[in-house]
Amino acid sequence: MVGLVSPKHGISVRVGALPPMSSNSALVQKLISEKTLVTPRIIDAFKTIVRQDFVLPEYQNQAYEDRPLAIGYGATISQPTTVAIMLEKLQPEPGDKILEIGTGSGYLTALLAEIAGEKGKVFSVEYVPELKGLAEFNLKKYNFGNAALFVGDGKAGLENYAPFDKIISSAAGGEMPGGWKRQLKISGRLVAPLGNDLVVLDKLSKRRFKEERYEGFIFVPLQ
Ligand code: SAH
Repeated sequence: MVGLVSPKHGISVRVGALPPMSSNSALVQKLISEKTLVTPRIIDAFKTIVRQDFVLPEYQNQAYEDRPLAIGYGATISQPTTVAIMLEKLQPEPGDKILEIGTGSGYLTALLAEIAGEKGKVFSVEYVPELKGLAEFNLKKYNFGNAALFVGDGKAGLENYAPFDKIISSAAGGEMPGGWKRQLKISGRLVAPLGNDLVVLDKLSKRRFKEERYEGFIFVPLQ
């Protein structure tokens, strides 16, 4: 970074190698032009939910860059491209009952709640109590009556609220917890990282699943 001062106006201008993305709409346009975002209702949610609202004060100037940012406790707010890919695979719909594992900053929770709408509901489980607190604080900037946050081990899912239309995890384990597969409705879809792969499971019947895998991701580990 080079700091420049315009002698005429005395205004300090910072010049970097690449100009940082300056707005949420610029970030969304980038995700659309790269064809990462294609579904209109998912695009609308990305426009409504402003990423800056979920980024720590010290990273505010990087809020619209396409990379993960630390939120403390070894966790990150996920990279926008990763969130977009996961949502495009999940295809959440209005009215869906959704289980989210790994609330973190609450950014994905907000996107899911926006898409699920008044008739839907998002149940989000976070392992670290302080991060649940952070997500609560961030989500208060919006007025979601359809998002419920829980502290606990998301590997167990949420038996009391099952079954779910959709399940999504932002934290990667070595194996798919059996509870998630059981707690998914038949015809429901689960999107979760397994190691460095992103796995998409469609529940065809009580015991039959169709699986797709996409390689090359990096996720926070599942505790
Ligand atoms: N979508 C979130 C991602 C946060 S990173 C965001 O964009 O902000 C993944 C989160 O999963 C972390 O907050 C981590 O604490 C949480 N996590 C890890 N293991 C977990 C577990 N067993 N149960 C619930 N949450 C877990």
